[in-house]
Amino acid sequence: MAGQSLILVRAEAPHFLVLITLDGVRTEELFGGLDQETYKAAAKSEAWESQETYKRFWAETPKKRREKLMPFFWREWMVDHGSVIGNRRQGSQMNLRNRHRFSYPGYSEILTGTARDKLITSNDKIQNPHPTLLEFLQSEWKLPKEQTGVFASWDTMEFIAEHSKGSLFINAGFQPYESIEPRVQWLSSLQFETTTPWNSVRHDAYTFAFCMDHIQRNLPRVLYLSLGETDDWAHDGRYDRVLENLERSDRYIQNLWEAYQSNPTTRDQTCFVLTTDHGRGDNPFNWMHHNDKLEGARHTWMAICSPNLEHRGEWHHHPEVYSDQIASTAAEILGVDFIDQHPEAGKPISFLLD
Ligand SMILES: [Zn+2]
Repeated sequence: MAGQSLILVRAEAPHFLVLITLDGVRTEELFGGLDQETYKAAAKSEAWESQETYKRFWAETPKKRREKLMPFFWREWMVDHGSVIGNRRQGSQMNLRNRHRFSYPGYSEILTGTARDKLITSNDKIQNPHPTLLEFLQSEWKLPKEQTGVFASWDTMEFIAEHSKGSLFINAGFQPYESIEPRVQWLSSLQFETTTPWNSVRHDAYTFAFCMDHIQRNLPRVLYLSLGETDDWAHDGRYDRVLENLERSDRYIQNLWEAYQSNPTTRDQTCFVLTTDHGRGDNPFNWMHHNDKLEGARHTWMAICSPNLEHRGEWHHHPEVYSDQIASTAAEILGVDFIDQHPEAGKPISFLLD
């Protein structure tokens, strides 16, 4: 490089935020793909090795297994566009600050930047007692309702995502969705005919289809896609379905990314944040569960992709970070000061922003 001066110009802050959460996805699967002992224990069959799902996701090394499970995430996204925190084997630790280690407290910690252990103690449908990052951005950027879209498979997200009822555009759980597109309108009715084993969670396929329709029509500056099936299949002990759903989620993330990158307005103008609300048990006998007694249930992770961030790949050996830092980190990347109005929130993750 002799004779040349290298000037690094920091790109301006992006104008769009896409937040995606995958419910209760463990670091084990994200960073290591299919776990053989867990698969074997969950399969309840002597012939587990000949099952289709096992054959589809099994490979000799963790690296190959995770690439089979989430090919877009590992072979493209984290190679060319973003970085990921949470591989504990590499000395990268992200944890929940809240002590409950289930969904409402986890999502609220992500969205408000604060663990409120005494206020939020259940998954009951109560309005979030504090404003969220989504509402903060709506007010900072003076956005109409349609410009802050929330699409969730779990019905309770309607209460978690906003403090002021009705401020955001929310479609959550088994809820009709209005579209001018006949195909999407048909999907809206079909969701009620394709019920799931769980009353409060619809299939992610519908959530994703309605989300994409909303993007096409409104191109929201703030979008939150909250996928839910991974957690419910896990509670039911269906490890095969968890893996299949994770692979499908990877495809949804790819479709979202490509939709934003193919539109001149949003291309290289969007900050993507992908995370989870909690971990789960860390062995083949407790992986289905998550609660305040299980250490693994506090283990989380976060991937981030933004045109003004230069880091790529996996983080390793850094000071422990917490999920209550996600809101302020995202805001900082977007060039707005969340901490100023929410001084109790976790501080931005400094090494990400260097
Ligand atoms: Zn759960």
